[in-house]
Amino acid sequence: MTISTKHNDIETITGQNYVNEVFETVKKRNPNETEFHQVVKEIFDSLVPVFARHPEYMEQSILERIVEPERLITFRVPWVDDWGKVQVNRGFRVQYNSAIGPYKGGLRFHPTVNASIIKFLGFEQIFKNALTGQPIGGGKGGADFDPKGKSDAEIMRFTQSFMTELSRHIGPDIDVPAGDIGVGAREIGFLFGQYKRIRGGYEAGILTGKGLGYGGSLTRTEATGYGTVYFMQEMLKEKGLSFKGSTVVVSGSGNVSIYAIEKAAQLGAKVVACSDSEGYIFDSNGLNLETVKRLKEVERKRISAYVEEHPHAKYVQGSDGIWSIPCDIALPCATQNEINKKSAKMLVANGLKAVGEGANMPSTSEAIDVFLDNQILFAPAKAANAGGVAVSALEMAQNSARLSWTFEEVDAKLQDIMTNIYRNCVEAAEDYGHPGNLVVGANIAGFKKVADAMIAQGVI
Ligand code: NAP
Repeated sequence: MTISTKHNDIETITGQNYVNEVFETVKKRNPNETEFHQVVKEIFDSLVPVFARHPEYMEQSILERIVEPERLITFRVPWVDDWGKVQVNRGFRVQYNSAIGPYKGGLRFHPTVNASIIKFLGFEQIFKNALTGQPIGGGKGGADFDPKGKSDAEIMRFTQSFMTELSRHIGPDIDVPAGDIGVGAREIGFLFGQYKRIRGGYEAGILTGKGLGYGGSLTRTEATGYGTVYFMQEMLKEKGLSFKGSTVVVSGSGNVSIYAIEKAAQLGAKVVACSDSEGYIFDSNGLNLETVKRLKEVERKRISAYVEEHPHAKYVQGSDGIWSIPCDIALPCATQNEINKKSAKMLVANGLKAVGEGANMPSTSEAIDVFLDNQILFAPAKAANAGGVAVSALEMAQNSARLSWTFEEVDAKLQDIMTNIYRNCVEAAEDYGHPGNLVVGANIAGFKKVADAMIAQGVI
């Protein structure tokens, strides 16, 4: 099957026809990949106004090319568990687009990982990375491995096996992975160690999110959560709103959630709830972040353990219930499609003013429609959570220059980057006739940069 629009008269077709036709081909070529279809549809739909002004993107088949990964690698990951049994998982790396820089994007270890999830994340990453203003292309990877309940030794054996294959495909100027769900400081350490052992040299720039003692950047741990809040702060400011005195609900209790909670609280918000995949906690006094951090980052316990130390707080089984808590600002920071239409309606009915997506694609398309139809300020993931990859690119810059910036220096750069992303999204949305719609703004701003680079580099 070839992907081509096969139009003889490019002048006569509209952007909408072009988008529809390419999207149909994407569905045929990638059957049953629902998350991938969802993200492609969202991005394609927002690009419709671009094609009237830039017919060269249709002539050059940019959509057909950009939606097809440059490379999708799948591989066997065999490892031995603590009982001596051989286990097998499936590893993935999608090297999606390298028009503006080496592939860059995280690794996810979670039992739900499959080609659809990795491609949705990788496709989204192309535009996010372009929005940061840094020279990084789009990639993503991971495995259907569940780190939950595994010993440190099992995690190490698995990550070593995973890196043994991945190491053939990556390099500081080729592809630079980082963390994502299930891949934090411990996993990055083991991955880095195995890469170094296989390659026999010290290439600090091969991974980001490294420990501070071996090439990591200050502020990388905080960057995605902090960046989401910085982005929201800009958005709120324009409407005369702020975090100060607001009630905030944050889903998840992993890396992104913890630092979104921390920054929102520093800016004067009361964060009353967070969750994990089994349930959520509600603390009307405002969450005690020290407890959440210790439980999740050090002791690796379930979030339900919070109420043992704070008995006035409430634990409720089932994570979706978190969206029934009235709040001014919702920060979904856990996983894809965690806010559906029903939850979105409940949030709006309870007085919601703004949503900032810390996770990737946490709102379904129907939920986004509910937010936009009700004039809720909506910060889409690819713009709002770009702070993590932006600081990863700063980590790469520090590694190449062999120097380390202070926390304050990196944090100041992060704030500037988030403000610039916000401005670029606002301008693109206005320029293309959708003022205030940052979903459209983010997609167009990211797309144009990559499309122009692809055209400049010829048909490759
Ligand atoms: P993480 O540290 O592994 O944390 C994920 C958290 O979400 C955990 O608390 C997990 O709970 C919870 N969770 C998973 N499924 C859930 C569900 N259905 N309902 C409620 N909670 C659920 O991962 P992370 O790095 O924070 O990533 C979170 C999201 O941010 C992902 O969408 C990721 O792609 C995105 N993101 C991350 C970064 C980054 O720098 N880390 C950058 C950009 C975007 P359990 O422990 O029970 O599984």
